[in-house]
Amino acid sequence: MSFDPADKVQDLQYFGEFGGVNPSISDSSTYTFLHAKTMMDTFEGNAEGCYLYSRHSSPSNLFLGEALAAMEGTETANVAASGMGAITPTLMQLCNNGDHIVSSRTIYGGSYAFLKNFIPKFGVNTTFVDITSLEKIEAAIQENTKVLFCEAVSNPLLEIADIREMAKIAKKYNLKLVVDNTFSPLSLSPGILGADVVLHSLTKFINGSSDTVGGVICGTQQFINSLRSVNDGASMLLGPVMDSLRSASVLKNLRTLHIRIKKHSENAMYLAKKFEEDGIKIIYPGLKSHPQHELYKSMYNEEYGFGGMLAFDVGSLKKADDLMELMQNRNLGYLAVSLGFYKTLFNAPGTGTSSEIPEEEQKKMGLSDGLIRMSIGLDNNIERTYQEMKKCMIEKGVL
Ligand SMILES: *Cc1c(COP(=O)(O)O)cnc(C)c1O
Repeated sequence: MSFDPADKVQDLQYFGEFGGVNPSISDSSTYTFLHAKTMMDTFEGNAEGCYLYSRHSSPSNLFLGEALAAMEGTETANVAASGMGAITPTLMQLCNNGDHIVSSRTIYGGSYAFLKNFIPKFGVNTTFVDITSLEKIEAAIQENTKVLFCEAVSNPLLEIADIREMAKIAKKYNLKLVVDNTFSPLSLSPGILGADVVLHSLTKFINGSSDTVGGVICGTQQFINSLRSVNDGASMLLGPVMDSLRSASVLKNLRTLHIRIKKHSENAMYLAKKFEEDGIKIIYPGLKSHPQHELYKSMYNEEYGFGGMLAFDVGSLKKADDLMELMQNRNLGYLAVSLGFYKTLFNAPGTGTSSEIPEEEQKKMGLSDGLIRMSIGLDNNIERTYQEMKKCMIEKGVL
């Protein structure tokens, strides 16, 4: 393995203005110029290293962006105020009125709603496909298709995208492959595998403390410049800018991402194995029973494992609700949406995070009412957690 995303982040060296070990926070929305001409040049994009206005860029946001670009192996990156604030400008920048997107059908509910209900009013339509079938992807491509969109590890069913093969398809038809890597930072490096643009919701594992929302777009300098253009850049004009104070705090949390991901993966693998042995049908890419286990192994950065997300079906929504309430009462985690927290988080995505997806569509993609999605926490003693969870499952008749 020649590319190690955590080493790339660690190799960056920044100092604060006064020799601080953390970069100084740029607490300004606007910037002075010593010469009027430099201001003009900056407006026109010809003054490298000069700042104009913080919706365009700010030193703190650039520091965080450069660290995330290093992690994903892309030329550069633009941070955003949320994951959706990264996804929506990307798609709007890449598509014009009359264009078409081929998207995975198992994606984050907000992304699905944007593609299905929002962006059509700008004349951009989407065909949703089963991402695990390369034939179906190729068959959905039209004359006017511009973007192939998926999640590296899908939400909530944990389907794995064959990024290398999808990149080949994208090249063949001159499309941009856009991959949301929110579920699998460090474990998967879609940019290295051939994706053109890699997106994250920083809200989840990368920030990891459930205290903010944030997002990032990683890509070529040319694409990021286009997003920032004062004339027609979607990030600049739609304005989903992250605040500098927040980006400084996300950068500090990024420092421990590699340690956290290893622990999330280790704990999730432990629980997945144990519960599978107990006879529960667990969906986890680290298990041999996962249909794309081998595919994941062919792509992953091994030391970061198979990630912290797992899912299983307990048969009905009532059972799922009962079990989750009991687990919360026993302090095994929180009944909450989102992921990547130190504490285990669980929810039933059919009625929660994927409720934007109509019931009929949910059925088609295999998203059942009784499905519980868990983001496994950083529990120090996962054996103890397992024993306690098992008791809950026995009490609620799941085991
Ligand atoms: C949460 C999430 C998003 C949206 O991110 P926000 O920060 O909530 O805007 C997008 N994609 C995936 C896979 C997510 O889990």
